[in-house]
Amino acid sequence: MSSLQKNIKIAITTLGCKVNQYESASFSSSFIERGAEVVSFSKTADVYVINTCAVTNHGGVQSRKAIRQAIKKNPKARIVVTGCYSQIAGLELIEMMGQPLCLVGNGHKHRLVDIALNPDYCDLEMHMTDIGTIREAQHLPVILAKESGGPGAKKHNGRTRAHLKIQDGCNNFCSYCIVPFARGRSRSILPELAHGQVQMFIQAGYNEIVLTGIHIGMYGKDLDLDVDLGLFIDQVTALNSDTRFRLSSIEPKELTDEILSLFVSRDNLLNHLHIPLQSGDSEILKRMARTYTAEEFETIILKAHERLPDAALGIDVLVGFPGETEAQFDNTYELLKRLPVTYLHIFPYSKRPGTRAAEMTGQLSGEVKRQRVQKLRKLDFMKKEKFYQRFVGTKHRVLAESKTKQGFMRGFSENYIPVLFEAPASLKHTVIDVEIERVAGDEVYGRMVTI
Ligand code: SF4
Repeated sequence: MSSLQKNIKIAITTLGCKVNQYESASFSSSFIERGAEVVSFSKTADVYVINTCAVTNHGGVQSRKAIRQAIKKNPKARIVVTGCYSQIAGLELIEMMGQPLCLVGNGHKHRLVDIALNPDYCDLEMHMTDIGTIREAQHLPVILAKESGGPGAKKHNGRTRAHLKIQDGCNNFCSYCIVPFARGRSRSILPELAHGQVQMFIQAGYNEIVLTGIHIGMYGKDLDLDVDLGLFIDQVTALNSDTRFRLSSIEPKELTDEILSLFVSRDNLLNHLHIPLQSGDSEILKRMARTYTAEEFETIILKAHERLPDAALGIDVLVGFPGETEAQFDNTYELLKRLPVTYLHIFPYSKRPGTRAAEMTGQLSGEVKRQRVQKLRKLDFMKKEKFYQRFVGTKHRVLAESKTKQGFMRGFSENYIPVLFEAPASLKHTVIDVEIERVAGDEVYGRMVTI
């Protein structure tokens, strides 16, 4: 190892999805393993890594902001830009920034640490491949030396729960979505590699692991192996009954009876489903190239609720798709109002150049989208409050995550209720029995009942 590598300071920032978070954790742990020091992004560093997002216009704006912040902090630093924004708009980005950037496309993320630490590689501005041609998933391990201490080692990125990427890419090409262009085709991490990573997280003391991917319902379908998402969940949740598992997000039609049965039978598979709806109008869903109708979605959610009545059901909604009429938006609103859902993730439609929807007529004004988002936000608030009220007086296993400014411990129950309670800081990162005592709006207060 060169002396430069020994003393080098690296700062990483991550935008966007949980897959990016996992990959940044892998970079961080690999830099530490190689002898580099990982510092906060606000500090002066020799290398800045910006793991960008392009899913929305906002993701692009935030990505550019982070690059500018790094350049300002240390104009002589190597600026390594990776992630979806670098993949789809690399050259444009170099022009916009007016200075050399080291671009590492999504197909080269497994080489990012080597590239960043080697000036010969980093001075080459582009490490890019046509992502649509890649057929094998690149496993980016998160290396967690139990004894090693340092930032990013035991609790990667200082988080209580670990994200595990089991799949990358998507074949769906929904008409509004840039992701298949930025991340390529669906590819699964080999089960033995994913199992090894789970074991490492368990040994490092993580109490919760989130299984994540771009389209995890596709898990295994590209492998010449007899494995699918249901079997994978079955195997990893059996590894250690004390380790809690969550599923990041699953497409409605991929929530099979087998997977629902695992949620019922495995105590450590947490009662929480996150399912994208996008629109409650079947005509809009068709134009989005989604694979279900509003009626089918309703049936799926009612079935999930029947089998898992206490589960949190989170829903993604895309508001203001081109041509969405008031009546079509109302169909979305009414569907969500009558369904037993817990919370909504609401995204205003954002035009992504290169997608079919970007060329559609009937693009809506920002004001119309804002009003519709507002209406759904109110519904989201009411849904959450109603769900939380149901659990007053009940006991939950809460994973303590952080201290609030007011001195409360904050953590999430199995069914994703964010609970505030009094507890010593030493209990951070542990699972605690908490009784829910009261709900004030969308804030939930509880009391520790055992230590
Ligand atoms: S399923 Fe659709 S929205 Fe989800 S990543 Fe694939 S193309 Fe994008």
